[in-house]
Amino acid sequence: MHDTSTRTLNFAEKKKISLYSIGVNLVLSIIKISGGLFSGSAALTADGVHSLSDLAASASVYIGIIISNKKSELFPHGLYKVENLVALISAFAIFFAGYEIAKDVLFGESTPISSLATALIVIGLTVLITYLYSRWEKQKAIALNSPSLMADAEHIKTDFYTALVVLVGVLGQYFGYPLIEKIAVVIVVYFIFHSGFEILKESIKVLLDASLDHESIVKIQDILKEEETVEKINAITGRNAGSFKFVQLDLNLVTDSLSEAHHIAHNIEEKIKQEMPFVEKVVVHYQ
Ligand SMILES: [Zn+2]
Repeated sequence: MHDTSTRTLNFAEKKKISLYSIGVNLVLSIIKISGGLFSGSAALTADGVHSLSDLAASASVYIGIIISNKKSELFPHGLYKVENLVALISAFAIFFAGYEIAKDVLFGESTPISSLATALIVIGLTVLITYLYSRWEKQKAIALNSPSLMADAEHIKTDFYTALVVLVGVLGQYFGYPLIEKIAVVIVVYFIFHSGFEILKESIKVLLDASLDHESIVKIQDILKEEETVEKINAITGRNAGSFKFVQLDLNLVTDSLSEAHHIAHNIEEKIKQEMPFVEKVVVHYQ
């Protein structure tokens, strides 16, 4: 009982934090794109599109957490893949945006900075928000033992460094070295493609019904080895869907009582779900 409520609490907390990440990326997108257009800085506008791609990624994480919090019986397997399909489409939108920016800045005419103050204020805000938020989220990730929050915190930290690159680009352009801005934009475009590629890789893996990863199988083996009620592991199989893993176990249990076996199987399921937050369902076959 206690384990189940801890799991529910953690989910509520993760849901809240992932909503904050959406908010942070939304604010960053708005101030960077409007600040970029107003100040005439191509590097800042490009970084705004980069934040927009981060927004797509954080929204898909949030949808995943919401779906996982529902009772799995209510959801046919198909719904998990909707998340991946949306992610796949947004990955292509991100690639297209990256291509458009690269084309405009590298082959178009460079525009002068019309308002240095606006660009500096927006970059200053970005540095402050990304620095403070990534530090806070990292602490939460450690407290909740959450790899997905840790990855998000690390990503927002790279957004902090990207803002510094944009600063160099803006100053370069302002003081008459447009080449410096072009280099800054190339670095930002690299981060846009990187975001898109991460989303694409995960989507394709799951849409092709990738089987359970080796790392998860080893972890489940370790959990089962500690169970005295498990006599022999016959098979560990499963698949990924959305951000979640569905596991099937074929075990020999050290009991002849059917009701006791049922009880043991239930405990094993709870233990795996507790230790592996993205495991959504465990089906135990036993003999
Ligand atoms: Zn980013």
